[in-house]
Amino acid sequence: MSEVIQPKTLKELISLRKIPYSSKRIERISKAYAMAKKAHQGQKRKSGEDYFVHCVETAATLVKMGLGSITISAALLHDVPEDTEIKLEEIEKEFGKEVAFIVEGVTKLGHVRLKGSIEEYYLDNLRKMFMAMAADIRVILIKLADRLHNMRTLEALPENKRFRIAKETMEIFVPIANRFGIGEVKGELEDLAFKYIEPEKYKHIVELETEAYKLRSQYVKSAIRELKEELKTSGIKLIDVHGRAKRYFRLYKKLEKYDMNVDKVYDLVAIRLVVTTVASCYETLGIVHKKYKPLIGRIKDYISLPKPNGYKSIHTTVFGPEGKILEIQIRTERMHDEAEFGIAAHWIYTQGRTWKDIMFRREPRAAEVPEKELEWVQQLKQWHTETGGQTDEFWRSIKIDFFKNHIFAFTPSGDVIELPEGATPIDFAYRIHSEVGDRAMGAKANGKMVSLDYIIHNGDLIDVVTSKDKKLPSRDWLRFVKTAHAQAKIKNTLRKGGVRVVGSK
Ligand code: MN
Repeated sequence: MSEVIQPKTLKELISLRKIPYSSKRIERISKAYAMAKKAHQGQKRKSGEDYFVHCVETAATLVKMGLGSITISAALLHDVPEDTEIKLEEIEKEFGKEVAFIVEGVTKLGHVRLKGSIEEYYLDNLRKMFMAMAADIRVILIKLADRLHNMRTLEALPENKRFRIAKETMEIFVPIANRFGIGEVKGELEDLAFKYIEPEKYKHIVELETEAYKLRSQYVKSAIRELKEELKTSGIKLIDVHGRAKRYFRLYKKLEKYDMNVDKVYDLVAIRLVVTTVASCYETLGIVHKKYKPLIGRIKDYISLPKPNGYKSIHTTVFGPEGKILEIQIRTERMHDEAEFGIAAHWIYTQGRTWKDIMFRREPRAAEVPEKELEWVQQLKQWHTETGGQTDEFWRSIKIDFFKNHIFAFTPSGDVIELPEGATPIDFAYRIHSEVGDRAMGAKANGKMVSLDYIIHNGDLIDVVTSKDKKLPSRDWLRFVKTAHAQAKIKNTLRKGGVRVVGSK
């Protein structure tokens, strides 16, 4: 897995960019850096860190993606109007309309009000995302970077919040990062969300991969040695060659298909060959196949036929050294950058830019983002205009199938609790906290008293009535609770309280 570099200073932050910023751009960024630092002075995150660390981390993701000083300044300032004394007008005065517009966009996106059903909540969220995207793509890029840092520090939040945020990340942010082709951000978000949604499975996969990786890394090293030599003899210029381990969630998804048999996953560690031109990609493919026999039907040419999100590369699976199966990916440096940073990489490589632009580090403006890459955003816009955008039909037609077999209920304070169909107020109570479960006396659904085995409906507001004097759950609950979580907690508390638990499932 790639290391997360955490910049501590302004200098460290700006040095994360492949193409350095001009001094004029650095000036802008350092002004934003200073303003954000001062504005958040004394504020702490739940993790105990200075709040400002969050601003720098958010910006760092975007610096690595190669984004310009306007986006970086807006990223540094993204929480300023919301959480500090400094208002948006002041940002506009100091940094101009563009930075202020982006910061405002990010701030607005933060306001997702919980009202009505959970479907509406998600739809509302999605709707806002798409509208912001259409207005200025940089708002969404900041939002993604912001979420990434929040996910990296999710451990600091209470359990029920962690689950909800992880779920939302998986369902809203991961697809968006994927659609933008930002593989690097998408992959990390997905793994972090996986960790909190399915902690047991996550742990298992990490162990599995660590073990398998250990076994394979020596092998991959020797294959790399052979390939390097072969390509050198053929006169192919290699820019980079490395082994890449599969992301945890991706591995998990694949293992599900293969009965959790890790030996059937051929790309657990793949070799990546980065060459100079498209022509040499194909030449390299020929050389690889001459050296190692390819597996029939496993050659995927995403250069001729890129994936819908723009991903380009050639993948082939071969019988490598010792006849063992190995996946090899071939791409140019540009394809590599685009695969990691997607839409943002286009800023660096925009065709309209000349060498002079790069030499003088002229920053392309939002309008210069190649139209083609944003085709789907354009499509959405058009679609939206045609249907008037008023009906929920439109938003529903953006496929949302993640509500299947799940219901969502609200706590009185507006937090969302996700439960399987058929769950009861006791399941709900244990999701909030085991003490709430143990001390539950009764429950209200939407203000009305209900029995403890009441089946919760989607969108119900559940209020659990507890008693301080009650310390033990009832053994009867085991007959009707739906979640394994509640089962386990009830049994555990009963045992500790000296109650015998027998024959329950
Ligand atoms: Mn933030």
